[in-house]
Amino acid sequence: KFDRTPLIAGNWKMNMDHVQGITLLQKLAWTLSDAKHDFSRVEVVVFPPFTDLRSTQTLVQGDKLKVAYGAQDLSPEDSGAFTGDISGQFLSRLGCSYVLVGHSERRSVHGESDELLNSKLRAAFRNNLVPVLCVGEGLSERQAGNHLLHTLEQVRNDLAGLSAEEVSSLVIAYEPVWAIGTGEVAGPEDAQEMCSTIRAELADLYDDAVAAKVRLLYGGSVKAANAASILKERDVDGVLVGGASLDVAEFANIVRFEQ
Ligand code: PEP
Repeated sequence: KFDRTPLIAGNWKMNMDHVQGITLLQKLAWTLSDAKHDFSRVEVVVFPPFTDLRSTQTLVQGDKLKVAYGAQDLSPEDSGAFTGDISGQFLSRLGCSYVLVGHSERRSVHGESDELLNSKLRAAFRNNLVPVLCVGEGLSERQAGNHLLHTLEQVRNDLAGLSAEEVSSLVIAYEPVWAIGTGEVAGPEDAQEMCSTIRAELADLYDDAVAAKVRLLYGGSVKAANAASILKERDVDGVLVGGASLDVAEFANIVRFEQ
């Protein structure tokens, strides 16, 4: 576990225009610099809306703010007649290092299929972006006891045909849909059960070395009060935070989970 740097990720969703986004990042930089935060021990990444990325780039470069940033989605294509889509190539050129793929809101609101998500993962790797692939079951699968099968099927379908080298750099976020934005949190042992099952599946699909490299996050109503207990679990390497990432003090306290 300790070879994998913990990753604390903030998904802003469709909140914060570019002016609000800059203010939030400045406050975050100020708060974290105040706490003698050791950025070599914990990696922080934010996912602002597309329209904030250019100002994020300017701020991060100018302020030496040690926060990585990424986009919330990307097109499976790199350029061309795809009105309204955003190319991974453009994101990469804007200094993005990460990109979310298959967030449950994309899967449900936009009907994104595993086949499409597989092409999006390929586009991310092609453009040197680290994808954070989101997987997880809905309430009905959890209640029926099918959460592991459902989530592993997403993992297998989304990764179909990807190379061991590609998958080694991947981040997978386990986000049970019933826990997103609901205040309902999966217990640390539920997060561990799923993350260890995903890691075992990666070892089966690839090998132990690949499985040991992939960082597995938990997401779903993470707050400062519950982050440390979830992050203590052996196979949980980070958290993907929605609502609480918009509150600087709360998010900074999640980043400082070890203290
Ligand atoms: C998310 O958007 O990925 C998420 C986990 O949201 P929240 O933390 O608000 O449940």
